[in-house]
Amino acid sequence: MTFQEGGSFEGGRVGTRRGVGGKGIAIGGGGIGAVLVTLLVMFLANQTGTDPNQLLNPGGVGGAAQEDVVGDCTVEQANTDRQCRLSATIQSLDAVWAGTLTGADAGQPAVWSFEGSTSTGCGNATSAVGPFYCPTDQSIYLDLGFFDQLTSQLGATGGPLAEEYVVAHEYGHHIQQVTGVMDRADRGGTGAESDSVRVELQADCYAGVWAGNAATTVDPDTGVTFLEPITQDELATALDAASAVGDDRIQAGSGGGVNPETWTHGSSAQRQKWFMVGYDAKKAAACDTFGTDDL
Ligand SMILES: [Zn+2]
Repeated sequence: MTFQEGGSFEGGRVGTRRGVGGKGIAIGGGGIGAVLVTLLVMFLANQTGTDPNQLLNPGGVGGAAQEDVVGDCTVEQANTDRQCRLSATIQSLDAVWAGTLTGADAGQPAVWSFEGSTSTGCGNATSAVGPFYCPTDQSIYLDLGFFDQLTSQLGATGGPLAEEYVVAHEYGHHIQQVTGVMDRADRGGTGAESDSVRVELQADCYAGVWAGNAATTVDPDTGVTFLEPITQDELATALDAASAVGDDRIQAGSGGGVNPETWTHGSSAQRQKWFMVGYDAKKAAACDTFGTDDL
């Protein structure tokens, strides 16, 4: 159980899509733009070795997608059902960021839970890209099947807070979009000191900010705090997930050598470190990954 007893979550915040996405949406600059956006927004650093061009293509096969929304969820459902957990997590993220972000309006990203493939403002995407945020349409896209991959392929322990960390990381990219970080950063480069890595570590830190506030932030709809206090065991599962998606671990796991020059997301140790910086500080201001030499 992670969501607090007495809570409940209205439907409609998260959309669902099944089937082939609509016609691909061309983005400025065509293919190369899509590749850059892919590299930028992908939660995972290309762990499958797949060419991003094949994963996120502007212009694709047409076809009607079945759209719906995640409906009302009880707290029991939020604690057991992935769609409900996603909906409840997003609503807690909305509230935490509305209450903690200063200097910018956090707004609310659109959230799509899809199966297989979907059209997005960044082109057509398949599940293979992993969860991602598209700045163009300010939307989070994820196939909940990723959480099985997180445990089966990436070796994470998994669990509710591990899944919520992933969602909170993507929401962190939305915060970066509304604060201008996404536009200011040079997101095309790679390497341990690159802006790309700094963007990703900051999103991890923002995920920590959410986790640090989620047990004390009250749901305005119910008057109940979102999460129960996070236990050390639960915290360990989130850190374990952050470690599982570290560039060094993914590179080592894929059989190749560890090469920091190609990093886009940061090492396992760095991702854990920045999650904890946000978790402990509970404030976005602590997440200054661009202003430090000590990533
Ligand atoms: Zn990311």
